[in-house]
Amino acid sequence: MNQVRTRFAPSPTGYLHIGGLRTALYAWLFARKNGGAFILRIEDTDTEREVEGAKDVIYNTLRQTGLYYDEGPDVGGPFGPYIQSERAEIYKRHAEMLVQKGAAYRCFCSKERLAQERAKCEARGETYTYDKHCLSLSREEIQKRLDAGEPYVIRQNIPRTGETTYTDAVFGDITVPNADLDDNVLLKADGMPTYNLANVVDDHLMGITHVIRGVEYLSSTPKYNHLYRAFGWEIPTYIHLPVVMKDKQRKLSKRHGDASFDDFINKGYLKEALINYIALLGWSPGSEREIFSLEELIDAFSLEGLSRSSAIFDVEKLTWMNAQYIRALSKDSFIERAMPYFIEAGAERFDLNLIAELIQPRLERLDEIPGKLSFLTNMPDYDIGLYTHKKMKTDAQSALPVLLKAKALLESQTDYSLEALRESLHALVEELGIKNGQLLWPLRIAITGTEVTPGGAVEAACLLGKAETLRRLNASIKKLQNGMD
Ligand code: GLU
Repeated sequence: MNQVRTRFAPSPTGYLHIGGLRTALYAWLFARKNGGAFILRIEDTDTEREVEGAKDVIYNTLRQTGLYYDEGPDVGGPFGPYIQSERAEIYKRHAEMLVQKGAAYRCFCSKERLAQERAKCEARGETYTYDKHCLSLSREEIQKRLDAGEPYVIRQNIPRTGETTYTDAVFGDITVPNADLDDNVLLKADGMPTYNLANVVDDHLMGITHVIRGVEYLSSTPKYNHLYRAFGWEIPTYIHLPVVMKDKQRKLSKRHGDASFDDFINKGYLKEALINYIALLGWSPGSEREIFSLEELIDAFSLEGLSRSSAIFDVEKLTWMNAQYIRALSKDSFIERAMPYFIEAGAERFDLNLIAELIQPRLERLDEIPGKLSFLTNMPDYDIGLYTHKKMKTDAQSALPVLLKAKALLESQTDYSLEALRESLHALVEELGIKNGQLLWPLRIAITGTEVTPGGAVEAACLLGKAETLRRLNASIKKLQNGMD
């Protein structure tokens, strides 16, 4: 068998849809698994849709996720150019070849005529297909119109009778009557190809052996096969992937702000967790196992595990997986990944090692970090009702004398390490004959103004340091004294 060659062929829309990333991942995995090559091709012939910087989004996302391509626009390769808008001449030449072979023809029909025909057809309750009007134009007539500079398109000439059977590795054999297939445009009036022509020409010229793409192209595949046959080319293996859904009714769509790779990265998901989760969206390893590195996915991946039914993107499951990945990071790489969020929280000047120890085991998403650390830079004007904790039998009144003792202790304390603080505060609890919580609960409220912090009072005091801890403690003592006058 020839070397396996797969491709990812996104249109530069400015974002990489999760479904697109999954296609790229499967194409990459299949190539790697089979010692083949993975090619990136940019499908930008629809110039109206092009967005500034959109190609970079694609290059960056693939690199960021580790889906390195062997050939592509910015890495080169023997079958370039890899950007369709730079291949216009190639498509034109091939469209002309199809015309010579009778597999395509020039069509001069005006927009108005086409609209009228469509309207008539729809009025009869029929699905519109082009009526092959221009197929019967004589050579002379065509030449006359060409000489007059009339605009035209090139249409595919699909046989009216018979049927076409095609095979997909996921969906099996499918047979369609040719009468259902439209003579779609292959080359537009501006000389640019449509997807119908470009995908066939490029996949062939780039030596693609396995075409892995979204299921939306499945029903047009028989038309592409007519083109392969007209050219006398070998038909690749097709692998169409079902849709990624938001829920049972809706597709995952950019409009909901939760469809692109960047949307999830911005919400604090790790790229490794996303890739792992996406891998399982429509593919099953055939076991209960869920956590896979990219290398492990290469090992486990097989076409047999692909599903025909659409996959529902389960954010809760992704979030669970993300927490597993966060937990598994080394402390250093956790700090590195979390740094933008530490900076957002103004926490970068605090003891990040201690912060990491406190928050890494409990985080589901990195974007929870600023909220968890806001107490470091922000002392809220809290309600003294927070001192009340029934189970610990403490309230504002009982807190005040305890806090005064704590203040004296923390003033004389020179060592603000976690161990030293823990020891001293423990000794104070013993000395006062109270429960741990009766000191630590009010102390946390007094120096953070909130009931929930990563770690407790000891950790908060250690992170804040002596000066800030005492400043806050004094302010809280005053607040209590005033509040109880
Ligand atoms: N440009 C097409 C898209 O973005 C690619 C389809 C294909 O993979 O052939 O949907």
